[in-house]
Amino acid sequence: MTAQKRIRIRTAEELVCRNRFGSFFGVPQDIFDRVWANLSGSDGNSVAYISMEIGADPDVFHPLRDFLVEEEISATGDPELDALVDKYLHGPRKIPIYSGGLGVLAGDTLKSYADIHIPVLAISLLYRAGYFSQIVDLKVGQIDQATHWEPEKTPTLFQLRDPERPERPLEISVPFTDMNASPVDVRAQVWMKMEIAEELDYFVPEFLLDYSLPDAPPWIHDAARQLYNAESTLMKANQRRMLGSSVLPLLEALGFTSRTIHLNEQHGVTVVIHLILRELRAALGDNYKEKMTDADILAAADRVSQRMVYTIHTPVKAGHDRFSRTLYDRISPPGFRRVLQVLATDEDSPGEYNLTALAMRVNRTVNSVSRLHRDVTRKQFPRFADKITAITNGVHHLTWISENRARTFDRCGALDGWRDDPGIFAHADLAGDRGFRAGLKEAWEQDNSFLVDYVNTMLLSHRKQMVETWIDPPNYLSYLPKADDLQAGVFTIGFARRFSTYKRADLIFDDIRALTDILVRGNWPVNFVFAGKAHPADEPGKTVLKLILDNQEELYARSNGLAKLIFIPGYDMQIAKMMVSGVHAWLNSPKRPLEASGTSGMKAAMNGVPNISVMDGWWVEGYHDGRTGWKFGYEGPVEESSLSEDPDTLLYEEDAQSFYRLLPTVLRTFYEQPDRYIDVAINNLKLNIPIFNTHRMASEYVRRYDLRLNGVTAEMIASFQRLYQSDIENR
Ligand SMILES: *Cc1c(COP(=O)(O)O)cnc(C)c1O
Repeated sequence: MTAQKRIRIRTAEELVCRNRFGSFFGVPQDIFDRVWANLSGSDGNSVAYISMEIGADPDVFHPLRDFLVEEEISATGDPELDALVDKYLHGPRKIPIYSGGLGVLAGDTLKSYADIHIPVLAISLLYRAGYFSQIVDLKVGQIDQATHWEPEKTPTLFQLRDPERPERPLEISVPFTDMNASPVDVRAQVWMKMEIAEELDYFVPEFLLDYSLPDAPPWIHDAARQLYNAESTLMKANQRRMLGSSVLPLLEALGFTSRTIHLNEQHGVTVVIHLILRELRAALGDNYKEKMTDADILAAADRVSQRMVYTIHTPVKAGHDRFSRTLYDRISPPGFRRVLQVLATDEDSPGEYNLTALAMRVNRTVNSVSRLHRDVTRKQFPRFADKITAITNGVHHLTWISENRARTFDRCGALDGWRDDPGIFAHADLAGDRGFRAGLKEAWEQDNSFLVDYVNTMLLSHRKQMVETWIDPPNYLSYLPKADDLQAGVFTIGFARRFSTYKRADLIFDDIRALTDILVRGNWPVNFVFAGKAHPADEPGKTVLKLILDNQEELYARSNGLAKLIFIPGYDMQIAKMMVSGVHAWLNSPKRPLEASGTSGMKAAMNGVPNISVMDGWWVEGYHDGRTGWKFGYEGPVEESSLSEDPDTLLYEEDAQSFYRLLPTVLRTFYEQPDRYIDVAINNLKLNIPIFNTHRMASEYVRRYDLRLNGVTAEMIASFQRLYQSDIENR
């Protein structure tokens, strides 16, 4: 279900494109050539975007597949091409190489770059065991398993060929140092994922490095297998180097010249060290390693800074890499060590290299992901306060607006052009349009029914599972002697996130008696639908997940069956989209200010779903005095203790009580003033879609890049920039 494409494509053959790295499928040849040329120009007028993870499952946004289905393009008679088309129409579409917000943000960002035609390529890693698959058992909690997927069978993913020997895959050689400080060249094969614009008239290539070759050393194999699975610090350091140290060899192998390098978090920061050493060689000659002084290193770092843009995503310590000097020195050649000694020192911890500090030093701009996060980051890194700015995150509106909502928007004349320009919502009179109100309500009901059906089907299969296997299903309702399924139209609160302790998934169950008293007094039925994964090594996070399961029975019993708490296992982008559009309110209960931005709440807002949220991250900017949803919890100044994740400082009692004081207002509005509830939904469309979309965010990043753009693109960027400026001071 997409609008008419601007470019005319009639047959599958027109979507075949080739160059010396192989033959691909997705855009016409002239577009393919244009993108490749933009990335290879001698002026370096493009950006390399480096991210440890990219979440862009084609099962959630798939413009090419939609096009093939609509145009009924299925078979061509050419067996090779038919296989490709078939892969798009029927192939497994999950690319499970992301863990959460960081990866999904990267994917959404790249999709917007493709839609706006910005010359960008991305570099990340291909993990053959994905992140992990989650099974949930009522008694045990989360059980994690490796994820199996096959890049070969996944649409939009292609392995590059060696131009000299096309029968073989391309291999690049990445400089490493092993545990004995001996240099080794490690080889990686390269997969290209095409992030195709919704109009099929541009794409952003993502290059995923696959280090799991049969003859790779075992320490490389181990590190390459699974995202964020690091059994040792050494393995973690190797995973980071696999990303950062591959950037220059990859660009060179492909003939790309990108002058600007954007680090999406500091994971890939070793690229900076390689660039500095190159500068030093150019300035001092081949024996630069003997000659270079600290001043030379600092001067080289200044030159490299002009090329670097760095986004910092979290104030939480675990998000920043520190490595013991003893360990890191063992795996670093002497030149590397010198650079680290000058640029990666950690004042608080002299025995460690701090790679966040390195990323902080060497860049033209540091971007935090919301206004509040900017203020917190400045406090955490006072030395760099001047160059820390805010670019508030967004989400890709075409990915996250449900099909039912999108159909309603398509039918509304005042929203003409909303797919190209999410700013349209700001000026349309939606609240006064009775047809639109009815359409939005109906779409919401459909999305809610879809979620409810999904849950009920899951509960049914859990009942069977309980009989047939050793797994105890994670949902108490599956145990009831008589089915008590969810009903559509019952107020449904959604919560889905990584289970980190600071996100406080169990906050609203802090005092179950207080919570259920509210529901019983008002006779208000409520569904609580939860999902999310805890990192397999995060024991406290797993404990919180288990606590959610442990609360189900008591909540149900104390509320006389009014409150049903459901856990959906296997949180991924598809489940996220179903939840953010299918619930009536989205709950966000982190400890302020530890949720630097948060993006799932923006996905809800795009569908008109109000947030009930702590004043943290994006919600400080998206709240609009109660017109778009509700706030609760501590909103005072950020103190030293605010940054702690220590259980005693997590403010459970205060913030939970604040939630209970608020809840009756929300429920009364929903059940007794449905029209007013639709007003809140419409305010989200008008006030929040124009701000929290990645087109606007991308345009703010483009201003930080060193790029020249053609007239049409430059105009689009300017118009998106006018929607919102993240970096004004907080009021
Ligand atoms: C959007 C999304 C996230 C990030 O949500 P936050 O609110 O930022 O925690 C994590 N995982 C998935 C699958 C998502 O779609």
